[in-house]
Amino acid sequence: MKFFVVFAVIFVGVWLWRNNRKEMLQSRNDEMMQAKTRTAPKQQMVSCAHCGVHLPQSEALPSPDGLGGAPWFCSAEHRKLGALKS
Ligand SMILES: [Zn+2]
Repeated sequence: MKFFVVFAVIFVGVWLWRNNRKEMLQSRNDEMMQAKTRTAPKQQMVSCAHCGVHLPQSEALPSPDGLGGAPWFCSAEHRKLGALKS
C-alpha cells in the first residue's frame, strides 16, 4: 500500500511538471512569435534607378534633386551616375 502512495505522488508530480513545461514552452513560443513580428516591421522596398537592385527605403539614397524622393539609388556612386544619365 505504501508503494502505491509513493507511486501516485511521483505520477502526479511528473504530470504537473509536464503540464507546467508545456505551458512554459507555449508562452515562450508566443513571445518569440511576437518578437519576430515586432523586429520585422513592414518596410517599403524601392529599386535603384541605376542598377535596379531592390533595397529598403530606409537604406536607399534619395534622388539628388533635393526632393527626398524617387528615384532612389542604392549607393552614392549610382546616385551620381543616375544624375549624369538624366
Ligand atoms: Zn544601384
